[in-house]
Amino acid sequence: MPLVAIVGRPNVGKSTLFNRLTEARQAIVHDEAGVTRDRIYGDVEWGGRVFDLVDTGGLVPRSAERFEAAIREQVMLTLEEADVILFVVDVETGITDLDQEVAQVLRRAEQPVLVVGNKADNDLRRMEAAELWSLGLGDVFALSAINGSGTGDFLDAVIEAL
Ligand code: GDP
Ligand code: MG
Repeated sequence: MPLVAIVGRPNVGKSTLFNRLTEARQAIVHDEAGVTRDRIYGDVEWGGRVFDLVDTGGLVPRSAERFEAAIREQVMLTLEEADVILFVVDVETGITDLDQEVAQVLRRAEQPVLVVGNKADNDLRRMEAAELWSLGLGDVFALSAINGSGTGDFLDAVIEAL
């Protein structure tokens, strides 16, 4: 089964997106530092296709002393294993230095990379997501993991990239 990996710095909404896509309502999202009880693997069925989804943020403990090192590890795992990479950025905050660092590594990925502009809960935020094209990665998808808007078109693109 194809493996699709979610990457991104903490707090951009990776776990929320994972839950939304897997419809895993029993999954728990924690804001608290050091708490990683999130489910990290799940199956997604869409448009007659099935893929495995992994939340790589959940693979690396948030308590990791060296935050940047932990994220680097997360991205390296992804580059080795994934068939498609979902790079999540928070459009409410905008692009941070850490996002830029992740993007720099992902530019070398051989797999398709889909850029997710998450927290695009309204029209203004959806427009602001256009700045993510400047990352120089793949196509940008503005969506809201919380309210579900944009996730259907996004899933269409994911299965097309498989
Ligand atoms: P992670 O650290 O990347 O896994 O991020 P989480 O999924 O734990 O989410 C971090 C915070 O962002 C939580 O407070 C979520 O409720 C919030 N969040 C996630 N997705 C959205 C969204 O689409 N819109 C808004 N407004 N908040 C979101
Ligand atoms: Mg998480």
